[in-house]
Amino acid sequence: MLLTLQNYCLNVVYKPGPEMYISDTLSRAATPPQSTDTQYRREMVCSLQQEQYDTATIQQTDYLNVTSQRLAQIRQHTEKDECLQMLKTVVLEGWPDCREETPIVIRGYWAIRDEISVQDGVLFRSQRVIIPKTLRSEMLRRIHYSNIGGEACYRQARDTLFWPNMQGEIKDFVHQCSVCNEYAHEQHKETMMSHPLPTRPWQIVSMDLFNHAGKDFLLAVDHYSDFWEVDLLPDLSAETTILRCKAQFARHGIPDRVISDCGCQFACGAFRAFAKEWCFEHVTSSPRHPKANGKAESAVKIVKSLCKRAAFAGEDPWKAILHWRNTPTEGLHCSPAQRLMSRRLRTHLPVADQLLMPRVITEIPEKLCVKRQIAKLNYDRSARDLPELNVGQPIRMKPLPGDRTGRWRKGVCLQQAGPRSYVVNVEGTTYCHNRVDLRPAEKVPSLSSGHLERSPEYPGDTHATEGGSAGEDSSGETGTNHGEAPHSSQTICTPHREEQGQTYSRSGRLIKPRDRLNL
Ligand SMILES: [Zn+2]
Repeated sequence: MLLTLQNYCLNVVYKPGPEMYISDTLSRAATPPQSTDTQYRREMVCSLQQEQYDTATIQQTDYLNVTSQRLAQIRQHTEKDECLQMLKTVVLEGWPDCREETPIVIRGYWAIRDEISVQDGVLFRSQRVIIPKTLRSEMLRRIHYSNIGGEACYRQARDTLFWPNMQGEIKDFVHQCSVCNEYAHEQHKETMMSHPLPTRPWQIVSMDLFNHAGKDFLLAVDHYSDFWEVDLLPDLSAETTILRCKAQFARHGIPDRVISDCGCQFACGAFRAFAKEWCFEHVTSSPRHPKANGKAESAVKIVKSLCKRAAFAGEDPWKAILHWRNTPTEGLHCSPAQRLMSRRLRTHLPVADQLLMPRVITEIPEKLCVKRQIAKLNYDRSARDLPELNVGQPIRMKPLPGDRTGRWRKGVCLQQAGPRSYVVNVEGTTYCHNRVDLRPAEKVPSLSSGHLERSPEYPGDTHATEGGSAGEDSSGETGTNHGEAPHSSQTICTPHREEQGQTYSRSGRLIKPRDRLNL
C-alpha cells in the first residue's frame, strides 16, 4: 500500500467526527445494488490494475544513493543468500495465508510482508535495502565507522538499511568495539546504597580529614544526630589522628562503627590496632568514591562554608558552629545538639531556662528512616545498578586522576573486596576500585574474520554467537542472543577452572549445577 501511495502527494488534514459530513451522510445513505454496479466494479478493477502497473514502474534503485558497484555487490550477495532467495520467491509468488505456512527461514519477515518488494534483484523493506547476511558484518563496520554510540549508529542506519535484529547487532558490535571501550564515557551512577541506620547517638561515626585556610583538620560526624566535631591536626601522621579520635571517644563514648576513606591515616596498621584495642569496627570506602563516605563529605562542606562566611564577616567561626549545632534540622524538628545530648545549647539568643533542661527526643530512628527513603527515591530515579563482576573477568579501569590519556586500561578482576568494590590487576599493579570505575572488557575478536562473529537473529540463522543483550527492531521483532563466546585463542578470559569445588566458565562466571540434577 505504501508503494501504491507513492504515486500521490497526500495532504492529510484532521477533521473531528462531527465535521465529517460527507462520509457520515454516505455511510448512512448507501445506494442499493443497481445494474451500474457491475460497470462500476469493472472500472475500479481497471483503475487498480493501472495503479499496480504505475507502481511497478517505480524503480527503487533509482532513488538509492549508492554506487552501481555497491548495488551490484548487494545484488550478487542477495543471489547467494538462500534466505533472501526464498524471500524473493515468496514475495513474487505471493505470501501464504498464515504465518505457519511460511517457510521457517523467512518467518521473521512475516510481520512486515506488506512492505517487502523486489526490484532489480535487490530486496527492499519500503525504501530500506534488505542487506544479505554475508554483507552485514561489513555494513556494521561502515555504520560504526566514526565510533559513535550504538543508538546513534542505529538512528543513522535505520533509514536506509534493514535486516532482522539490526538494532541488537549494532548494539553488540558497539559493545565489543575496542576503540569505544578504550575511550569510554563515565558509567551511569548506581542506586543509593546506605549504611545501616543507627538506633542511638554516637553509634555510627564517619571521619574525614580536610584542609581549610592552610590548616589540616579531623572531622567526626555522628550518623544519628548529624553532630560533628572538628579537631585541628598539627600533622597528618596516623598517631596524631588516633590521638584526636581518642579525645573524641573519651567525650562521647566509643562508636560501634567508624567509617572513613582509604587515607594513609586510616588504612594503616596503627589504626587497625587502635580499632582492635578500642573495640570498634572500622569500615573504609573505595578510593575515588567519596560518595561512600558521604556523611563526612557533606559535614566537611558545612564546616568549610560556616568558616568561610564567618571569616568574610569578620566573626568568630566557633560562634557560627555553636548556632548551627543548635538549629533544628528540617523534617526532624530538633537540633543536632538535642539529638546527641538531649538538650538545647545556650547561645546568644535569649532562652527560657526551662528550654535548656534535658529532654530525650524520641522517634528519631523512624524519622531518619523516612528521610533516607525519600532521599533514596529521589536519587534512584536517575540511577541503575551495574551487574556484578566475576573473579577472573577481563575488565577496563577508569583513567586514574592525572591520567590525561582518557584511556580505560585493560586488566583482570582478582576478587570482590566488598559490595560494589573489587580488587583488580591492571598492567601489573593491583587496585581496589568501586564498580562504577570498572567496566567489563570487550571480548577479543577473531583475527581471521577481521570482525566480530554476530548473533543468530531469527529462525534459520545458524551464525556463531557472541554474548550480548537482545535488541528490538522497529518491526517489533525481538531477537535474543544468549550464547557463550566462541572459543578463541586470543581471548584473555581465564579458562575453565575449579576452586574449592566450584566450577567457573571461561568468562569467570560461577557455574551452578541445576537443582533437579543435583541428586
Ligand atoms: Zn567504536
